[in-house]
Amino acid sequence: MLNLSLMLVTAAFSAVMLLVLSSLSRIGAEGIRAWSQANWMAVVALPLFAARGFIPDLLSIELANTVYMTAITMMLVGFRRHLGQAISGPALLSCIGLALATLMVFHYGVDSFHLRVVDMSLYHGGVCLALGLSVRGALPDAPQRYPYRFTAITAFYLAFGHGVRGLVSLAQAADIPVFFDVTTWNVIFFSLGTITMPSLTLGAVMMANAGIIAKTSYAADHDYLTGAWSRRAFFELAERERARTLRAGSDLSVLLFDVDHFKRINDKLGHAVGDHVLVDIVRRTEQLVRQVDYCARLGGEEFAVLLPDSNIATSIVVAERLREALDRSMRIPGSDEELAYTVSIGIACLEPNETITALLRRADRALYVAKAAGRNKAIRALATHEAEKADGAAPAANQALSADNQL
Ligand code: GH3
Ligand code: MG
Ligand code: MG
Repeated sequence: MLNLSLMLVTAAFSAVMLLVLSSLSRIGAEGIRAWSQANWMAVVALPLFAARGFIPDLLSIELANTVYMTAITMMLVGFRRHLGQAISGPALLSCIGLALATLMVFHYGVDSFHLRVVDMSLYHGGVCLALGLSVRGALPDAPQRYPYRFTAITAFYLAFGHGVRGLVSLAQAADIPVFFDVTTWNVIFFSLGTITMPSLTLGAVMMANAGIIAKTSYAADHDYLTGAWSRRAFFELAERERARTLRAGSDLSVLLFDVDHFKRINDKLGHAVGDHVLVDIVRRTEQLVRQVDYCARLGGEEFAVLLPDSNIATSIVVAERLREALDRSMRIPGSDEELAYTVSIGIACLEPNETITALLRRADRALYVAKAAGRNKAIRALATHEAEKADGAAPAANQALSADNQL
């Protein structure tokens, strides 16, 4: 009676897991289909086990066990798909076939319940072990460690439990007395058998969720076209770096740059070629700057590079190197033609008490001066006190003063 209740509760739990999985499937994480199929199979198999005695043995033993073996195997398939690991369909089918053949020998040959349990424990334990190893192997690249650890440890515990179940059943088959009485073992093993699918599904859901969160936050922090930091992420990173710079009494600089006559490239060669230019810019920039620098696409064809621990002198050198690196033609993808483009750069170094917005405003003014001075130039922003002086003077003087800083 207890076993029957446990089975039906587990079947109901699998049905609930199916609802959770279907809510995830809309987001399209890898492996979800296999996990759902596995739970559907569990929902079918468990009542078949429970109906033992009321339906033919062929259904409650061979069919129920085959469906349940396929269910746990589909869990493994789901995890391996999710992790991008190879799956050998023929190998898995052969294992199921072999376990089923053995089951039939212990049913129609030597009719032994205990030996059938040994056979099934071996199969389920083996799959759990493979599953645990697959997930543990992916731990170094996990988007979050906890869900991966939970799943691997659960799978190892289940494999161990199935192993003990196999041994105890073997002892019982050979009439060797075992530690607890039969009923106690029975309940322990029954629970083990029935929690296998729900607990692994829980791990699957947790892992899929971690993947979705990682994907979403990557999408929010990165520009879809170029892979550079997004505008939103740039301001967050800049604020963090500003606070660190002030604490450490260090320097923080920014290079603001914009493609020259980008509209002409689009108009002459098409938007797709324009897109390639933007991708090329980020690729070259990221190759040139340090790992600790941040290259962001602030919008359209305007980019920023944040240079932590860099004073104005260093930033001027980096800006000039960047301008030169970008002033080289690139091959237009899908054609033999070359395309040359240039950028104009505004350089600014954070002043005491200056906000990030104010820093960027100064860099933007320098960028404007670089454009006005003929483009393909890197120009240092005026310091606040210089700008104030210049603002008081005629606009022409303002521009001349800035042009003096041209590299
Ligand atoms: P300037 O030298 O003064 O910067 O001239 P410009 O032509 O580069 O500047 P303008 O602001 O006139 O044109 C910018 C163009 O950038 C217009 C817009 O269609 C294009 N653009 C913005 N975002 C994208 C994009 O994602 N892909 C492509 N291909 N073009 C874009
Ligand atoms: Mg432009
Ligand atoms: Mg622009």
